[in-house]
Amino acid sequence: MKNIGFIGLGNMGGPMAANLIKAGHTVKGFDIAENKIKQFEINGGHAVTNVNEASRDIDILITMLPAGKHVRNVYLGEEGILASQNSKPLLIDCSTIDVGTAREVAAKAKTSALFMLDAPVSGGVIGAEAGTLTIMVGGDVIAFTKAQSIFENMGKNIIHAGGSGNGQVAKICNNMILGISMVGVSEAFVLAEKLGLDHQKLFDISSTASGQCWSMTSYCPVPGPVPTSPANNEYKAGFTGDMMLKDLRLSQEAATSCRAATPLGAKATELYTLLEEAGQNDKDFSSIINLIRQRSI
Ligand code: NAD
Repeated sequence: MKNIGFIGLGNMGGPMAANLIKAGHTVKGFDIAENKIKQFEINGGHAVTNVNEASRDIDILITMLPAGKHVRNVYLGEEGILASQNSKPLLIDCSTIDVGTAREVAAKAKTSALFMLDAPVSGGVIGAEAGTLTIMVGGDVIAFTKAQSIFENMGKNIIHAGGSGNGQVAKICNNMILGISMVGVSEAFVLAEKLGLDHQKLFDISSTASGQCWSMTSYCPVPGPVPTSPANNEYKAGFTGDMMLKDLRLSQEAATSCRAATPLGAKATELYTLLEEAGQNDKDFSSIINLIRQRSI
């Protein structure tokens, strides 16, 4: 069993840390939000009051933070992880952040003789609670092998994606596909509506034909065909439009940096920005169908 530090005990980090505790590890945790710390203690964690304390006398340090600027601050700040640790822990950042920051922070960790993995996840809060996340890992293969059993306490599909930053690359590429495909499926259902084809009929045909994809068969944006999809629950998230926009923006930033043409990624980003401007981005990302419907009058 390991001594683990965990920083960022929010919607995802909270249940991920809880699964590590359940697996028998000793976990000390820090979050700037008081209520997150309280829940962590209820789950059996040892609360600490700053990054420094969370980073000391441990084997592994995991972070699960909102965005690149938080990761930069927590790792590279004056009292950040790189300045604080004393036991050379393996560093694992599970946040979804920009590729550039992931590579830069890992490179700085290396100059302090620390291994760092970027390990963003997919599967949402339900997957975090159930310990069934998909975890996409970038970084040194030996460090990955050392962390494998820890990843298995939090996830089901654990894939080494290559060198530093490649976990983030995999995550933004996957979510760009998801954003584009959700828009595509939504457009098809709205077009079918307007032309008088029943939702269920389109689903029965397309879900077994060449139009089938996850956005249709697991997360259908209209109520009915897939009873568990957020469309059946007034688009309660799930994965919010806001989170989809964050990941699409990361994909576009990365595409610009390496001069990759992603015209559909750009269009999907534009549509999710409109959802944000309409104040609808706290709903599930599949509610993009309502924006498309509004534009179809
Ligand atoms: P969240 O906002 O619920 O949790 C982030 C936590 O970090 C918060 O509790 C916040 O107080 C804490 N925090 C921020 N700055 C801190 C600091 N300096 N020190 C300590 N704690 C700090 O967000 P979340 O939904 O748990 O998402 C975390 C990451 O996982 C994001 O990068 C997100 O894109 C990614 N992600 C989220 C989901 C999802 O469905 N929620 C799915 C996959 C990936």
